[in-house]
Amino acid sequence: MPPILVVHGGAWAMPDDMVDAHKNGVRQALATGWTVLQRGGSALDAVEEAIVVLEDDETFDAGRGSFLNRDGKVQLDALVMDGATLRAGGVGCVERLKNPIRAARKILSDSPHVYFVAEGAERFAQEQGIALCKNEDLIIPREVARLQEYQSHGTDRKPDLFAPAISHDTVGAVALDNKGNIAAGTSTGGTLDKAPGRLGDSSLIGCGCYADNDTAAASTTGWGEPIMKLVLAKWTADRVGAGHPPDEAASDAIHYLKNRVNGHGGIIVLNRKGDFGIFHNTPRMAWGVRSGILDVVGVEKH
Ligand code: ASP
Repeated sequence: MPPILVVHGGAWAMPDDMVDAHKNGVRQALATGWTVLQRGGSALDAVEEAIVVLEDDETFDAGRGSFLNRDGKVQLDALVMDGATLRAGGVGCVERLKNPIRAARKILSDSPHVYFVAEGAERFAQEQGIALCKNEDLIIPREVARLQEYQSHGTDRKPDLFAPAISHDTVGAVALDNKGNIAAGTSTGGTLDKAPGRLGDSSLIGCGCYADNDTAAASTTGWGEPIMKLVLAKWTADRVGAGHPPDEAASDAIHYLKNRVNGHGGIIVLNRKGDFGIFHNTPRMAWGVRSGILDVVGVEKH
């Protein structure tokens, strides 16, 4: 089976001066994930390694450089899922993990459970040999300034955080390996000024991410609450399972999101045949595709 990797780095009205940073980050993630697939590695490993690159890149709202919550802290959510076994691992509201996707992967591989939150997730990660960091290590001056600016507006004059013009830089990946298995992963710092403890769609199974060899792998980004209400990643995978090609399912999903709950965002979808879809209803979405014949990144409609 010829492998393929598709990644995204958020969907919103990305300004021109941020396009190159997003494309570069996506390109790096593709290069790393593709190396895994080319060596015969699993889709799961490729997804994990691609997402680590994006988490480490401060351009994105994942890992270090993420949005700050109302208390000025970084709180991260991540999920990874294996389409062959339906095993999944998720973490929510973690504050001391540089790469939450690594902890999510450990949950998938080494725990009978699917989801850990907050201190319990951090304790599990530490028990698995993952070093904890300080929350301050994840905070960068750009985000301190962004939160201060946002909080300086009076309650009734605050900009609409859920307008597509506000940055949504969640990251995600879907992959197909040479054994014909698919996997998906998503990682995020969530939304700016979120209430402590608020969990978005990204790390919830079926919402921000889903993978089943019988249907498809999908990863979403955008305003999390509407995406959650529709369990959008699973909805999309099921649509592929019902016979719709991934590109059509991706566009159907985003239209459903808009029409049913007035949501906005983007999605990447991939099936076991290597057919994929990329769709967003925001002005831009950072995306990239790498296969034996494709090596392309973009921010406009695919
Ligand atoms: N979906 C994420 C959340 O609501 C945000 C994003 O995709 O940028 O937490």
